[in-house]
Amino acid sequence: MSKKDDDNPLEEIQKQLKDLLKNKNLQVAFAPFMQSMNQPEEDASSEKPKDEGGKSKQKEKPEDDPLDAIRSFDRKPKEVRDYLDRFVIKQEQAKRVLSVAVCDHYNHVRRCMQDSRAQSAEYMKPNVLLLGPTGVGKTYLMRNVAKLIGVPFVKADATKFSETGYVGNDVDDLVRDLVKQADGNVELAQYGIIYVDEIDKIAAEGSRGGRDVSGRGVQINLLKLMEETEVNLHSAQDMMGQMKAFMEMQRGGKPRKATISTKNILFIVSGAFDQLAENVRKRLDLNRIGFGSSEEQELSESGINFLNKAETQDFIKYGFEPEFVGRLPVRVACDELTKDDLADILLSSEGNALDQYRKDFEGYGIKFEIAHPAILEVAKLAAKEKTGARGLVTILERIFRDFKFELPSTSIRKFSVDADTVKHPSASLKELIEDNQDLLDENMLEDVDRFVDAFKREHGLELRFRKAAKVAVVKEATAENRSVLALCEKKFKDFEHGLKIISQRTGKHSFVLDKKAIDDPDKELSRWVVESFSSTSEDE
Ligand code: ADP
Repeated sequence: MSKKDDDNPLEEIQKQLKDLLKNKNLQVAFAPFMQSMNQPEEDASSEKPKDEGGKSKQKEKPEDDPLDAIRSFDRKPKEVRDYLDRFVIKQEQAKRVLSVAVCDHYNHVRRCMQDSRAQSAEYMKPNVLLLGPTGVGKTYLMRNVAKLIGVPFVKADATKFSETGYVGNDVDDLVRDLVKQADGNVELAQYGIIYVDEIDKIAAEGSRGGRDVSGRGVQINLLKLMEETEVNLHSAQDMMGQMKAFMEMQRGGKPRKATISTKNILFIVSGAFDQLAENVRKRLDLNRIGFGSSEEQELSESGINFLNKAETQDFIKYGFEPEFVGRLPVRVACDELTKDDLADILLSSEGNALDQYRKDFEGYGIKFEIAHPAILEVAKLAAKEKTGARGLVTILERIFRDFKFELPSTSIRKFSVDADTVKHPSASLKELIEDNQDLLDENMLEDVDRFVDAFKREHGLELRFRKAAKVAVVKEATAENRSVLALCEKKFKDFEHGLKIISQRTGKHSFVLDKKAIDDPDKELSRWVVESFSSTSEDE
């Protein structure tokens, strides 16, 4: 932990608060705050999850206890691998290695929960160093592992942290974030997973040159977390948290545990380590001068394989503290994704980006089909982005952006995506809209009713559109490429005023609109107003 934690800031701040609150003026100023702090825990605490109705979740039922899943952990590595296969394409080696590491770790955790003697036994935590380019599934693997096991998961970039935590974030925040992720359940957070990305960026100056000055310090702080330490639940900067802890003490309530142990938190650190692959290649090249083997041949064909050949010394030379590397006994590299892998993601990975777009369109009652050649085309373009699977989202967004904007306001409820749509989305969309120009859509007719309802709510006057009038509005909106609502608001902008005059003179609240009123609304309104004057003057 950083120095300020060793000084126990909690005690110091609480002492200062105590002195402060002896001051009468301050007592008055703080009264409303103190009142809110004094509310029963159920009301005041944000730590307990609440359901939609605002009630605290019932935790009494034993099957609701998230710790039960860990207490009864009985997964086997192959089962974990099979689960990951549903979501993550390729990365076989990483899946195997991670499956073993998490099974070992949560078997150990289960033993500790059952028998405290297991806790004291010598145990080397299988923290993982995950290497490989961006967007190939490193985070996705670990998120899915955490979901399967039922433990909280937190991810952050190593570059956000500074040595002191005064400028930039403090590494201890990672542990506090786990508690937040666990809805305040400190015990559950103790078994969570912390993922620190871009770890290669905090390598100290060594063979690489040009680096963050506090890199070494951040490594040391992370190292302490990875070993075993107690982290304060409230950071020194978290005034609300400090006040709350203080008020609890003042109330004479049972003091709650103010720290969390990192002993059983699993750490995953990851990075692209581009330069490292090159260093390892050079080392291997030097070793083999004058020799030739098929393994070397294979190695020289793909840069990423060199990361799997990296040894402890390579990481130390790269700029890592030996102790830091030593705490990361499990190391594995993820592979680059080819365009075929990217196509596989769209075809078979559960919850892939295309599914997300399907859901988005379904929100407007629109369905689309995508042909196989179109998927291959998307994958080809995505591969060119060189951002792994993230490239898929970039390309899909480019294709569907205008479709998402235009189609919900048209009558089109179904469309197909072929390779041509992928290559020329704007032209395909234009064609699709033109081909369906004459289609009349129930949804758009309902949009007219929505305008009528809003008009009645706002002005207390009823507009009754004849069918022909509704159809005319929808056709005009389609032709003008506008929403029905916007068209009606423009067309009938003077109706509120005109109809109110008529209503005052005649007591009429309901008005029938036929096609004439759509073709020339102002003329129709003027006619009605004039008629209302002549009819009332006749009455007089
Ligand atoms: P990184 O390797 O940089 O941690 P991520 O795991 O965050 O990349 O990948 C970003 C997104 O891309 C994931 O949320 C997932 O949707 C998708 N993705 C990446 N790699 C794969 C893969 N191998 N299989 C399936 N989806 C993937």
